Amino acid sequence: MLNFRLAAPERLVDLNGIEALAGVEETESGGLRLGAMVRVRQLERDPLIARRAPLLAEAAPFIAHPQIRSRGTVGGSVAHADPAAELPAVLLTLGARVRIARRSRGGEPGSRVERTLDLDDFFLGPFFSALEPDELLTAIEVPPSAPAEGTAFDEVARRRGDYALAGVAARVRLDSGGVCGEAAISLVNGGSTPCLMREAARTLVGSEPTPEAIEAAAAACAATCDPAADMHASEAYRRHLVRTLTARVVSRAADRART
Ligand SMILES: Cc1cc2nc3c(=O)[nH]c(=O)nc-3n(C[C@H](O)[C@H](O)[C@H](O)COP(=O)(O)OP(=O)(O)OC[C@H]3O[C@@H](n4cnc5c(N)ncnc54)[C@H](O)[C@@H]3O)c2cc1C
Repeated sequence: MLNFRLAAPERLVDLNGIEALAGVEETESGGLRLGAMVRVRQLERDPLIARRAPLLAEAAPFIAHPQIRSRGTVGGSVAHADPAAELPAVLLTLGARVRIARRSRGGEPGSRVERTLDLDDFFLGPFFSALEPDELLTAIEVPPSAPAEGTAFDEVARRRGDYALAGVAARVRLDSGGVCGEAAISLVNGGSTPCLMREAARTLVGSEPTPEAIEAAAAACAATCDPAADMHASEAYRRHLVRTLTARVVSRAADRART
């Protein structure tokens, strides 16, 4: 916001010194807890993330440039609620939850109140989230991946490092016999908020992810998304990208689930 001269706040709160907000931990259930101040660069490089949530490692290099990834944080990207950002869409696909804390209002001095929210309930509008003004996003919880689950991400941008014209993240879980038991698809720049494409993902469940089934899901995604037109791309072109990218990433996620 400051870099783009979109905001000129009178005061800034520096979270860098708060150790409790840093670090990546494996949870008891085998998922991940990402502290709000984890840098995007760490998503690219941390072997634990590559093992437990490879979708994060795959998508991170698409975000801006190394200098920005070295400073930009997971919590900052999610709190910013930009529909054009990669991490919100990727974390939605993974079924992540956000941990939020604030000082108790009128309670014991120093006492705090915490809540956990499904990320799906967090994004309320463009650059608008469920965070109250006195709340801090403290961590993101990523559930463990299931056996026979595959994920994939891809996007199209005019130049490497630019915000995506459109991007798609997908997760596919296969049951015995290769039938799709669960699927999730999320879009970057496919609507006014980071969004899960539930209807399109549901069309995959209950049958094998054949090229025809994947193409039908991609068509459903393109038909139901709500991309904006701007100087970079028309709405029709963004829908075309959503269709092509959805077919590509769902197919890749299904292949990964099979191996
Ligand atoms: C030139 C440029 C190109 C970029 N390209 C991309 C791109 O291609 N893709 C992409 O996804 N992003 C891109 N970004 C955004 C970047 O990756 C960061 O997500 C963004 O700058 C936020 O940085 P930050 O983590 O330092 O958060 P800040 O800038 O510090 O904060 C962002 C907002 O979130 C709030 N906030 C931050 N942390 C918390 C917290 N823990 N709890 C509550 N509220 C909080 C702040 O108050 C502020 O409103 C780009 C940025 C720049 C400058």
